[in-house]
Amino acid sequence: MSEHRTVTVHTADHGDVVIPEPQWCIAPHSSEGYRVDIEHYGTQTPLLVPTACHGLAAALPVLFASRPFSPTDSRIHAVVELDQWHEFDPAGLDAVAAALVEHAAVLRVHARRLAALLAEEHQ
Ligand SMILES: [Zn+2]
Repeated sequence: MSEHRTVTVHTADHGDVVIPEPQWCIAPHSSEGYRVDIEHYGTQTPLLVPTACHGLAAALPVLFASRPFSPTDSRIHAVVELDQWHEFDPAGLDAVAAALVEHAAVLRVHARRLAALLAEEHQ
């Protein structure tokens, strides 16, 4: 990861804070009330599902984020929005991917069953 860039964030509690800016970060860093709230985040990549009713529907957006001054965990996480945003380490994110693959199989089973039900309905 390139850490060559730095940004200066004005904070109410620590004045101007100069921090390395990760290459993936797209967050605007003009000011924060508290230094602990400084957060890097990257671009969101959603799962795009084509729908007949609403075109492409976006779900499960994933992005990278870190809070360098977090007292609990300053590491980079992948963050995925499910019912709310959840943080994952690499193993956790692999588990999400495995769940998605499993769910894709469930959706395919439902698609075949739905096709069969529709075929019965039209006989
Ligand atoms: Zn940043």
